[in-house]
Amino acid sequence: MTMCGRLPVVYAPEADERLSSWIARMAPFYAMTVSEFVATLGLKGHDVFDLEWRLSEGQGALIAARIGLSPEAVQAMTFREFGPQARLMIARKSRYYCPYCPEEPQRKSTALPWRFRCPVHGVEFRGATGETLSDRFGTDCFKKLEGHAEVGAAHLDAWARSAGQGDLEAPEVLQLLTVRHRRASPPNVCEQPRMSLKDRRDYHDFLTTPIIRQALTVVVPEYDQVAPVLAKPVRPGLHALAQGSLLQCFALAVGAGRIIEDPVKWAISVMLMSDAEAQGRVRQAIDAWPLSLRRSISARFWRAERDERARQSAEKAARQRQSHKLRLIQSHKYRYGIS
Ligand SMILES: [Zn+2]
Repeated sequence: MTMCGRLPVVYAPEADERLSSWIARMAPFYAMTVSEFVATLGLKGHDVFDLEWRLSEGQGALIAARIGLSPEAVQAMTFREFGPQARLMIARKSRYYCPYCPEEPQRKSTALPWRFRCPVHGVEFRGATGETLSDRFGTDCFKKLEGHAEVGAAHLDAWARSAGQGDLEAPEVLQLLTVRHRRASPPNVCEQPRMSLKDRRDYHDFLTTPIIRQALTVVVPEYDQVAPVLAKPVRPGLHALAQGSLLQCFALAVGAGRIIEDPVKWAISVMLMSDAEAQGRVRQAIDAWPLSLRRSISARFWRAERDERARQSAEKAARQRQSHKLRLIQSHKYRYGIS
């Protein structure tokens, strides 16, 4: 095949199709590999994922001339509307799948970790195991969380497109969500499956594995309750989203939404729940926040801390009264028994 002139047959790109997907559909038609087809487009040796991230004007014009589309239509298949900070968010294949969409074409919007419904069919995406988020959280709980996830997703999307997003940027929000706010600890009783004594002996390693404890579980306790214990920890900062599962990314979007809605409240909640060992880390995560927010947090924190102490000592006193009463009853019974 010659290296110039228009290709005889060209598939029209589908709505929102990414360049790598379109090339992957075209190459087999010409009985070529992807890199052979890229060479046919006049871009020998270029990586298809680099090309779909950014095409120079010249490269775009070259492809456009070769396939008979407008340069705009070619550029629309790239991720050029995203800033460089977002590149690590873009997966090479769709992250989650819609049961009604065919495997090809792959859409740009499904490369991002903060979309949880198919843009065409409106149904929930499914993760690698085929499970939906409604299956995992329960339908009612999922519906309640979805509102917060939408706020978080809009914020993350604006950050990825370098659009204005107010005081608190996505990396700072994720920094707090993923901070280790307590020392790592083995699965607690609610996190352990029911086990016989024999199983407990056999799975001693599992029961004593320290699990990383992150602020995400404070901001999204619903996630803490349903996530499988070994898959509960997420990676730090932006990598949590870039490499997270459907469940993890959804929880992160919910957490981001809640923090955007009330950053001061959630920062204080995390500080109150953190242990002595982790307080420095939590403070460090909040130190990156804008000054006005930090001032509100310190202004409210001492009062919140005082209230929390008062609540804890009231609880302790109630417990003591309770056990005193119990001891009293028991001692009466005992006396009654022997008299
Ligand atoms: Zn679909």
